[in-house]
Amino acid sequence: MDCIFCKIANGEIPATKVYEDDTVVAFNDLEPQAPTHILIIPKMHICCADEINESNSAVVAHIFEVAAKIAKEQGLTNGYRIVNNCGADGGQTVKHLHFHLMGGRQFGWPAG
Ligand code: AMP
Ligand code: ZN
Repeated sequence: MDCIFCKIANGEIPATKVYEDDTVVAFNDLEPQAPTHILIIPKMHICCADEINESNSAVVAHIFEVAAKIAKEQGLTNGYRIVNNCGADGGQTVKHLHFHLMGGRQFGWPAG
């Protein structure tokens, strides 16, 4: 399968990894939208949030545990934002489930 995030997960494509374990990997976004902008992905290929179900949702819980750990390591003591874009209307460009962990500035709502 020609999936760029699967290739990052298995080391075929380089990325600046900030965390890795058996099931997830986190790396710096190539085009950061905030001083801290890290993508956290499952190593297994899940296309999007729409494909989360009872058989694979444990990895999503784990991703949120990892996000909290990384946020502490990155010194995001004043808060941060976790974003998931799903599908065309959600603005998803890479079709491998990923959560944006962003911090280091104030965010607007619902965009920006
Ligand atoms: P989304 O629009 O939610 O699908 O987000 C995809 C994100 O992946 C964007 O923020 C891109 O900047 C980022 N991205 C794409 N390719 C790479 C890559 N090779 N390494 C790191 N980040 C990437
Ligand atoms: Zn993939």
